[in-house]
Amino acid sequence: MNCGDHETDCSEVLAEVWLLLDHECDADRDAQLRRHLDECGPCLARYDLERTVKTLVARSCSEVAPDGLRQRVMLSISQVQVEITRRD
Ligand SMILES: [Zn+2]
Repeated sequence: MNCGDHETDCSEVLAEVWLLLDHECDADRDAQLRRHLDECGPCLARYDLERTVKTLVARSCSEVAPDGLRQRVMLSISQVQVEITRRD
C-alpha cells in the first residue's frame, strides 16, 4: 500500500494502529501516527475498524458472551467493513 509521500509509511502506521489504540506510543509517535491518519483515508478506515472491533471485543469479554451476543458482534463488524468499503 502506498498513498504518496507521507512522512510515515502506511505499513508502519498499520503495524502500530494497535499501539495507538492502547495509547502505548510515546507522545511524538502518537502525534506522527495521528497526522498520518488525518491525511490518509485508507489508514483512517483501518484505524476505525480496529477501534470498533476492539470496543466490541472489550464489551463482549466483560462477561461470558452468549451465542446471540457473539453473532451480533460479528454482524456489527461486517457492517463496519461494508461501510468502509462504501466510503471508498
Ligand atoms: Zn496511510
